[in-house]
Amino acid sequence: MRGFDFEAIGLRSDDAESLDFFPPHYRIGRTKYIIVTGGVMSGVGKGVFTASLAHLLQFLGFSVSVIKIDGYLNLDAGTLNPYRHGETFVLDDGTECDLDLGTYERFLDTTLNRNNYMTSGKIYSRILAKERRGEYLGRDVQIVPHVTGEIKYLIREKAKEGPYDMVLVEIGGTVGDIENLHFIEAARELMNDEGRDNIMFAHVTVVPWSDTTGEQKSKPTQHSVKKLLEMGIQPDIIVCRSKDPLQRKVREKISLHCNVPIDHVISSPDVESIYTLPFLFQQQRLAEITVHRLHLNMPYPAKEDAQIPFEPYVQHVQRHNPTLTVAVTGKYSSMRDSYISITNALQHTEPFERVRINLRFIDTTEYDDPTVPLHKCLDGVHGIIVPGGYGLRGTEGMIRFIQYAREQQLPYLGLCLGFQLAAIEFARHVCGLEKATSTEFDPHTPEPVISLLPEQETIRDLGGTQRLGGHEVVLLPGTRVHHIYGKDVIRERFRHRYELNNLYKDTLEKAGLLFCGMTPDHRIMQILDYPAHPFFIATQFHPEWTSRPLRPHPLFREFIRAAKRHQEQ
Ligand code: GLN
Repeated sequence: MRGFDFEAIGLRSDDAESLDFFPPHYRIGRTKYIIVTGGVMSGVGKGVFTASLAHLLQFLGFSVSVIKIDGYLNLDAGTLNPYRHGETFVLDDGTECDLDLGTYERFLDTTLNRNNYMTSGKIYSRILAKERRGEYLGRDVQIVPHVTGEIKYLIREKAKEGPYDMVLVEIGGTVGDIENLHFIEAARELMNDEGRDNIMFAHVTVVPWSDTTGEQKSKPTQHSVKKLLEMGIQPDIIVCRSKDPLQRKVREKISLHCNVPIDHVISSPDVESIYTLPFLFQQQRLAEITVHRLHLNMPYPAKEDAQIPFEPYVQHVQRHNPTLTVAVTGKYSSMRDSYISITNALQHTEPFERVRINLRFIDTTEYDDPTVPLHKCLDGVHGIIVPGGYGLRGTEGMIRFIQYAREQQLPYLGLCLGFQLAAIEFARHVCGLEKATSTEFDPHTPEPVISLLPEQETIRDLGGTQRLGGHEVVLLPGTRVHHIYGKDVIRERFRHRYELNNLYKDTLEKAGLLFCGMTPDHRIMQILDYPAHPFFIATQFHPEWTSRPLRPHPLFREFIRAAKRHQEQ
């Protein structure tokens, strides 16, 4: 069905106030929508809640997808600084996006695409291009209906792409931010267009603890719900983030003041592992409430004690497993969210390797100076990871950590920049090429062990121009890495401009380094291994982006096994 037949009621479309924002053959009611907004403050786990709800619905048998909306004007997250926004996550199709997309992929064990991510910049650039093409037929282009219409159109296109039973839409930021006003307005319009039975609103807020009165406080939640009501939206469920489980009294207050039944006030306390959250929400009947609210039937009778997929995590947090310490030595270490996929990939190994991993984030910029000793901060460390990064600052420190790991037989896993720096470290200290470096740090170096990918040489723009997304990597038969993966060809995700300069490959290999993974045409080296070491493996790609809760990435798993062996020594 098209959205609306204006002619049938005697209007020409240019007379009409609302335009047609329905994709061709769209059927109202086929897909139900769940809109997730945030209140009080951001960064409290809206993404994890959205992913948990999607996970529960998928577990019940519904086909679901999730869209993340960010208010900023950047076209994508590619040019954002990880210090300010946390990690940039990369999808298989090369989209550089918000880290929440990583959470969704992990909770749904699925691969998302560029249509699962929307920014104001993306909406506006589509609108401005249409305006230049004359598609608005002489009308003034406005926030309502054009911007909100474009948002609704893209949400519906995603729904149709499945087609999905449900599409969850997480609106970034908090209600009241100027940046996301048009998205919240679009959600309100969506309710009007699609019908109240086809949409549910979940509002995630914070319930702080007051030391003075010794109780949880509901007022910030009440205020943020009022704000949402001003915008025409009554939330159906309210999810309260708090340190401890929600007190009965607070639940009642929120129910009374915010117009929701008491069992629609969901408690989301701090937990040791986010993968136990679906279990916690299942105990509060979150999926049932949602299914009921959307006037759907449960696909099959819900079993009270049905095992949930993330059961290994529920068991893991109750076990007393030995603790390992892994150091992540990067330059964005002061902002934890910069390495959120690495943190997750390590957590994925925990229930399977029966360990608890204690992460030590070390800011390498403090160790660029060779006179600052390393051993103190590495005391009790069982493995080192050098993560991805850009620019010179902090890299001399990273090289020192890599040298330490290599010489002390400490397990080492290098990711992207960690691959490039491992090659440089080896060239300098094993092959005697003292001046070895990357042309990223010194464009005129006499020893460019790492240099620009040839296709990058003519590129000037910074946004969206790196070698991005999923690519195939062939593994050399008989090598340690081939054994770890148990496959000849793998698919991994990339984000880089620089690569190993093949002029140095022989020199490095003669000294004992082994390049055991490369592009199918054998031109670009993608994995290095130092077979003489218990575990010294580095990849030009980012294995952390494809690790999944029930399928820990083989390289991370093997790294943790090596760390365990190191600890036992
Ligand atoms: N700065 C390096 C490059 O562009 C590494 C990138 C990364 O670690 N993601 O190739």
